[in-house]
Amino acid sequence: MGLLDFLFPPICPHCGTPVVTQGEWCESCITDILHVRQVPEKFLQSLDCVYILSDYRGGMKSIIYDVKFNEKKEQSKGTAPFLASHNFYIHQFKPHYIIPVPSSTEKKKIRGYNQVDLFFKDWALSLEGEYGNGQYYRWLDCLAKIDTKKEMWALSGTERLETVKHAFTWQDDYKDIDFTDTRILLVDDIYTTGATLEAASRVLATRSPLRIEGLTLTSGSF
Ligand SMILES: [Zn+2]
Repeated sequence: MGLLDFLFPPICPHCGTPVVTQGEWCESCITDILHVRQVPEKFLQSLDCVYILSDYRGGMKSIIYDVKFNEKKEQSKGTAPFLASHNFYIHQFKPHYIIPVPSSTEKKKIRGYNQVDLFFKDWALSLEGEYGNGQYYRWLDCLAKIDTKKEMWALSGTERLETVKHAFTWQDDYKDIDFTDTRILLVDDIYTTGATLEAASRVLATRSPLRIEGLTLTSGSF
């Protein structure tokens, strides 16, 4: 038993029942929150398809809140069973690259991490392991968020939309990367209006990939 398990015995993030390992859910709670669906095509622009894995409530809502705002990194393990539910589909899709939506440099500095990395990276790398040699899946942290000095809450609806639209650019090291004919999976924690995912996807689309799919852990919008 680790020190963390001793101080904070693992519990199901949804109902609070004690479980054996950190990040584990009761079977019935997973069934309650797991809700795999696609964003209707009419809402998509540069993305070819977007999958959402769960409802934004209960245990999923508190995991995301705790990781984003309470610096409870270890809670991110609770998303693993939801991602595992998507493995079959991912193996069909076989993306060449899995790309995280970045958080702002400033927020990353304060938190010490980008929450999207915590949620998805271990999963992405374990998939790579199944094929070996990075044959299909490569985690590529190639996007950067353009930091704005303005606080989002202080902006009007239109200003906010414009800011989100141009929120992303290339990381310096990846300025010349060629995505011609590749399949890309773009991952993020929450799908709300889709503006963030579309903005990130538009940057990638300038390098002519074959297909860009999105995957988010959760959404309260659909
Ligand atoms: Zn439970």
